Amino acid sequence: MSEYLYECHLHTAVASKCGRITPEEVVRLYTAMGYAGVFITDHFLNGNSAIDKSLPWKEKIDLYADSYRQVKKAAEGSGLDVFFGVEYHTGNAAEFLLYGITPEWLYEHEEIMDMSPRKVLEFFRENGILVYQAHPMRMRGYVPFISLFPDCVDGIEVYNVGNEPIANDFAQDYARRYNLQTICGSDLHRITQGTAAAFVSPIRLTEPKDIKKALDMGGTGMRIMQNPFVEKTE
Ligand SMILES: [Zn+2]
Ligand SMILES: [Zn+2]
Repeated sequence: MSEYLYECHLHTAVASKCGRITPEEVVRLYTAMGYAGVFITDHFLNGNSAIDKSLPWKEKIDLYADSYRQVKKAAEGSGLDVFFGVEYHTGNAAEFLLYGITPEWLYEHEEIMDMSPRKVLEFFRENGILVYQAHPMRMRGYVPFISLFPDCVDGIEVYNVGNEPIANDFAQDYARRYNLQTICGSDLHRITQGTAAAFVSPIRLTEPKDIKKALDMGGTGMRIMQNPFVEKTE
């Protein structure tokens, strides 16, 4: 069976305040590791965003999508597929990875900034957008409490490179109990991150929503990758 590696959780310096990796570095790193593609999932405007909140909506979305557009341009001719995604913050440090959402859709839906967590997750899914909770069981100083919405998601991220092992174990257990589909992510912010977690797909994705197709096929998994530019794991 064929295998294709994907990054499902990635931040760049263009749109994420905490991101340190440039679009060119994204392409260099992931092609070196043999990936088929990456999803650019910057912190959205209600999260750790690098975008000036006082700007008009359209401009903010343009600046947000610029991260994806720059990586896509840098990847031209490299064979690396670049997909648009979002990491949406519903409040209290609960974050959700969205696939199948587009900048064009975002231009028309400024109201997503004023919806309650449950309402906005339902709204995304009503609009055909796939919703996966990022690091659902993360326990950190900045997380006041854990918020779970098992009936409002397509699945969850059960392995996040930045998580403590117990938080990933809890996420696995949560997915099992609620029969949720599982993805993984590096939550990569810098080219010096020592390890990455690749989502292994049995099919080459042609559009973001194919991630669900890959999950429905059941033949998916995870592979821990070593960053070839870093000698020692962090
Ligand atoms: Zn971040
Ligand atoms: Zn993230």
